[in-house]
Amino acid sequence: ETPSKPALYQHTPKAIPSRISGHLVKRRDDLLPQRKSLPIWPHADSIRQALKNNNVLVLTGETGSGKSTQVPQFLLSENWCKKCIAITQPRRVAAISLARRVGEEMGSLVGSQSPAAKVGYSVRFDNSSGPNTKIKFLTEGMLLQEMLRDPSISQYSAVIVDEVHERSVNVDLILGFLSNIVSGREQSQGRKDPLKVVVMSATADVEALVDFFAGESKNEETDGGNIKTITTKDKKALNVPAKSPPDQSLHLSKHGISTCFVEGRQYPVKTIYLPEPTQDWIETALKIIFQIHYKEPLPGDILVFLTGQDAIESLEKLVNDYAEGMDKDVPKLLTLPLFAALPQHAQQRIFTPTPPRTRKVILATNIAETSVTVPGVRYVIDCGKSKIKQFRNRLGLDSLLVKPISKSAAIQRKGRAGREAAGRCYRLYTEEGYKYFEERTVPEILRCDLSHAILTMKARGVDDVLNFPFLDRPPREALEKALLQLLTLNAVTETSAISETGTKMAKLPLTPTLGRVIVEAATRDCLIDVIDIISALSVENVFLNLVTEEKKEEAAATRGELYKREGDHMTLLTTVQRFAEEVSDRKAWCERHFVSHRAMRNVMDIRKQLRQQCNQLSLVPLSSDPTVSTTPSEAHTNAILQSLLRGFISNTARLMPDKSYRTVMGNQTVSIHPSSVLFGKKVEAILFSEFVFTGKAWARGVSAVQSDWVQTVIQESM
Ligand code: ADP
Repeated sequence: ETPSKPALYQHTPKAIPSRISGHLVKRRDDLLPQRKSLPIWPHADSIRQALKNNNVLVLTGETGSGKSTQVPQFLLSENWCKKCIAITQPRRVAAISLARRVGEEMGSLVGSQSPAAKVGYSVRFDNSSGPNTKIKFLTEGMLLQEMLRDPSISQYSAVIVDEVHERSVNVDLILGFLSNIVSGREQSQGRKDPLKVVVMSATADVEALVDFFAGESKNEETDGGNIKTITTKDKKALNVPAKSPPDQSLHLSKHGISTCFVEGRQYPVKTIYLPEPTQDWIETALKIIFQIHYKEPLPGDILVFLTGQDAIESLEKLVNDYAEGMDKDVPKLLTLPLFAALPQHAQQRIFTPTPPRTRKVILATNIAETSVTVPGVRYVIDCGKSKIKQFRNRLGLDSLLVKPISKSAAIQRKGRAGREAAGRCYRLYTEEGYKYFEERTVPEILRCDLSHAILTMKARGVDDVLNFPFLDRPPREALEKALLQLLTLNAVTETSAISETGTKMAKLPLTPTLGRVIVEAATRDCLIDVIDIISALSVENVFLNLVTEEKKEEAAATRGELYKREGDHMTLLTTVQRFAEEVSDRKAWCERHFVSHRAMRNVMDIRKQLRQQCNQLSLVPLSSDPTVSTTPSEAHTNAILQSLLRGFISNTARLMPDKSYRTVMGNQTVSIHPSSVLFGKKVEAILFSEFVFTGKAWARGVSAVQSDWVQTVIQESM
C-alpha cells in the first residue's frame, strides 16, 4: 500500500473551484452571528492584548463558551503569528470535529480535502494537515511525537493546550516541555521567535497553572530558572478570582503570565436523584428516557452518560427495540452513540440538527463531559461512573476500571443540560451516594503506568526524569518502577540512557509494550503479520458480543474457522487476513463471522499507517508468508508469538500444579477470560495483552507460549 497523501496532493487542484468556495463563503457568513454570540467573543481583544505583552495566557471558561473554536481564530492575524497555531485535544473525536467546525467558520476546507486548506488536524493514524495549514488541531500524543522530532517545535508560533482540566499524562508532559521552552530553561535551538502558549481549562484551577509556568511548581526541586518567582503578595496582585465580571476578566502579571476568566452561560438545571441505589442502571436509564419522551415537549434532546462502548451498545439496542413499539402519534426517537472508537462520520451525526418530530438520545462516554459540546440537550442522565485507567500495583500493570466519577465530573455532566435553556439532570445514584464521590478526579499521572511518559521524556532528551517540572509530581516509586519496566524492555540501558531500541519505540504511536513487539518482530521476519495483530489490538472489540445461545450456535461454525489453538492473537491475525483477502463483500463476510465491520475498517486503516511508519523507521515489513492465513508454519507462528512475548513479558503467567495460572512477575492468580479461545484450556504458560478486573483478575487476549521462552526473555531483560 502506497501512502495516499502525496498522490492526493498531486491530483488536487491548487485553487479551490469557485463553486465550492462560494458555498464555503456562504456557510462562513451564516455562522458568524453564532460565533459572535459566544461568551468568549467580547474577550477577543483582551486575549490578543494579553499575548502581545506576554508569552503565557491561562484561560478558563465553561464548556461551550467558545474556547476551542474561537481562540485560535482570534490569534491568527496577530503580528507575532507568522507560522502555524497548534491546539491540542485529549481525544481524536474532538480534534477532528473541531477542525471541521473551525474550517467551516473560516470558509476553508480541512486538511486533506485540499492543500490550500487553512485548518488541519493530526490524530494517531490520520494526519490531515497540509503545507498551508495555519490552525492545526492535534491530539496530545501527536504533539508529543512532533516534539520528539523537533524539540523546539519551531513550526509553531503558538501552542494552545486545551482541556487541561482533564489532566491526562500527555497534557502534563506537554506542559512540562512547554514551561521549559517558554522560560528558556531549555536550550531550544531552532527557535528564533518566542513561543506563545495558551493553557485552557473548563475549571478554575488558575493558580496552580500560574505557579507552574512561573516556575513555582509546588514540587519544584531546582530553582525556577530565569523567570522571577511570583510571591504570594504578587499573586494577590494578580487577583485571580473564582468568578469575575467580563470587563475585569483579564489580569496581566509582570512575570509573563496572564490569566483570563470567561463567564459561561448557564441556565438552571434541576437535579433528580434516585431514592434507592440501583445496580441495573441501564434498565433505569431506559425507563427515564421513555418517561421524558412521553411527558416532555419537543425540542429537548437527551444526553446519557455511560461507561463505555458495551454499555452504550446495549442501551442503544434496548431503546431502539422499545421505540419500535411506540404509537404512530408519538414523536420519533433517534439514538446516537458517541465514544472514542466510533468512526468519524458516525461521530459527526451528533452535530446534525434534530429532524422534525424527533428527539435525539445521545449515548456517550465522558467524551461529552467537556470535550465535545452537543447542541440541543435539555436532559442529562448520569450513571455516575466512568472507565478509568489505573495502575494495579500488585499486578504491575494498568487496567481499565469502572469507578464512581468525581463531584467535579458530576457537575460538568449536569451542566450539559443547561446550555440552551433550563434543564434537568437525572442522577442514577442517591444523594447520599453523591456525598461519597471524590472532590475531583485524580490526575492520570498519579494513577497510571508511567513507562510511556518516561520513554517520551527520555527520547526528548530529559536525562533526569525525577526532576522534570511536573504539575503534580508522581511518587518516586512510580517513576522508578516505570524505568525498570523500560529496562525490562531494553528501551533504556542500565545507566537509564535511551537505547537504540527505545528510540525506535518512542517514535511509534504505540505503548512501549506494543512498540517493543514491533521492534522485535522486525528482527524475526514476521513484522507484517505482527502489524496485523497490533492493528486489531488497537481497536475495541473486533468480535461482536454474542448475546443469545442461538447466536452462539450460529457463530460456532463460521467463527470456528478463524479460531486458532495458539490463542487469541493468531486468531486475530487470521481474522484480519481473511478479511483483507475477501474482495467480493466484506460486510457480508463480517456478518457471517459475527465480526464488527466498523472495527475491521479501522483495523485496515491502522495497519496501513503502521506499515508506513515502520517503513519510515527502516523497520521494513517483509512480504507476508503466503501460507500464513491457512496454515502458517510452526516456525513462523513461533516467531510471531515470541515477538509478542518480548513486549508482553510483564503480562505472562505459568500454569501451577493446582491448575491455576499465576503471573511470572508478581505471582498473582489470573484466569483466562471467557471471551478467549483458550478459555478453560490448560497450557504451560500464557501471555495476555489485556487485563480486566471484574471481581476477579481476568486475562483477555491470551496466547499459549512455551515456558522456556518466558525464561529466556526474563534472563535477557535482567
Ligand atoms: P469550549 O471550547 O469553550 O467548550 P467550543 O469552542 O468547543 O467551546 O464550542 C463553541 C460552540 O461551537 C458550541 O456551542 C458548540 O456546540 C459549537 N460547536 C463546536 N464544535 C462543533 C461542531 N463540530 N459542529 C457544530 N457545532 C460545533
